[in-house]
Amino acid sequence: MTSIAERPEGQKQEQGQHPGSAATEDTEQKFSQAMNMTEKYVLRCPDCGTIIPDHYTNVCPKGCTGLIRADYRKTTLDIQPLPGIFRFSDWLPLEGYLPSDAGPATYRSEAMARELGLSNLFISFSGYWPERGAHIESCSFKELEALPTTVRMKEKGNGILQISSAGNTGRAFCQVSAATGAPVVVVVPESAVGRLWTTAPTENVCLITVDGDYTDSIAFGNAVCSIPGIVAEGGARNVARRDGMGTVMLDGTVTAGRLPDHYFQAVGSGTGGIAAWEAAMRLKGDGRFGTRLPHLHLVQNEPFVPMTHAWQNNRREIIPETDMTDARHAVSQVYADVLTNREPPYAVRGGIYDALTATNGTMDGITNAEATEAEKRFVDAEEIDLDPAASVCVAALIKAVETGSVGKDDCILLNITGGGYRRVAEDKPQFLVEPLFGVKGDAVVDAVRRDIEGWVKNHA
Ligand SMILES: *Cc1c(COP(=O)(O)O)cnc(C)c1O
Ligand SMILES: [Zn+2]
Repeated sequence: MTSIAERPEGQKQEQGQHPGSAATEDTEQKFSQAMNMTEKYVLRCPDCGTIIPDHYTNVCPKGCTGLIRADYRKTTLDIQPLPGIFRFSDWLPLEGYLPSDAGPATYRSEAMARELGLSNLFISFSGYWPERGAHIESCSFKELEALPTTVRMKEKGNGILQISSAGNTGRAFCQVSAATGAPVVVVVPESAVGRLWTTAPTENVCLITVDGDYTDSIAFGNAVCSIPGIVAEGGARNVARRDGMGTVMLDGTVTAGRLPDHYFQAVGSGTGGIAAWEAAMRLKGDGRFGTRLPHLHLVQNEPFVPMTHAWQNNRREIIPETDMTDARHAVSQVYADVLTNREPPYAVRGGIYDALTATNGTMDGITNAEATEAEKRFVDAEEIDLDPAASVCVAALIKAVETGSVGKDDCILLNITGGGYRRVAEDKPQFLVEPLFGVKGDAVVDAVRRDIEGWVKNHA
């Protein structure tokens, strides 16, 4: 069991070491005086502009609906001598770090680039592939969310995190719990329970299975948060989640030496897309990486494509009757079911619609056949296995090359959001997380309240 480490002394005050850092220092000073900011970051509401001190705060206290953002005192990015994702600590809402090698890993593609005739293809691989420096043992970029969120709760919050997940997010938080001992309450559909494994034993996970789909487990998870001491992770509203996922854009840009022209990602909630946009704005503000935001190319899996449908019809609102007809059935048909969120932060201020508008982005839908065909080509070329969602993303890139919506020499960042499941099984043991409680899809939380309260008491 390891604990959250303090940042080494001396790094806390570190300033930009590139030309122009004197001017930057000055700006930073003004910035912190103006906002009376002694912290490394504050939260800011995009609707009313209120500056909010962070107490694991996920919504504006004035009741606004926009996504609150972290404002970092440092406007330039220095890579810190810390492990994994924590090398991007400058722009993560935390003070300490965890001794984990998990982080984004970007490389310039040769094989897939050649296959597609691209000269500037960068692949950011969030999964397990040690030969490429990728050490996410839970195998998806959800661990980039779980690591900073766990630290943020420990530093700024006061409770046990609750997560509702179709699998990848739950597994990522279980993995971080196994590594840190931080307790978590995870609610998953019964059908997803086999995806909840870790590479080290867990002792502090309260796993609850719901006999229903993802939407049912979200509803039950929300109800569980009525139990004192349990706090909702926050989803897209959680700045640690977004800025953790945003490190893919940071790593891709630092590796390429510039902001990419295009960013490709498969989305369900779209949180990673919002995160990529926010990270790109910070990089633009840094000044060393270019002034043009990358076009976001976000993609969903047919037949469940609510955001794609709304965007292609130039609508800020998702209309369930037209954008996700027969949702339950559509959800059951997709190859990549992590891409099936029914209430994505699309219309909300600072959400996907705004991100696509600001970056002159696109949304596309990919069929299962296109995804599996793309997967074959990618696996043959790059020689690593993919999460189905990543295959959907590869298919979108292939399509964009074919239609000419990206140029052959454009700088492209392909976010491979998950993979290396087969690779990690060669190296690491896998422990299945045992459910503590199972409930029916329409269960009320009172049925298990006493039991969960007892667990909370033992783990708080
Ligand atoms: C969650 C997930 C996505 C979608 O991420 P969002 O940005 O939250 O929509 C894509 N790929 C994988 C592997 C995921 O686990
Ligand atoms: Zn507000």
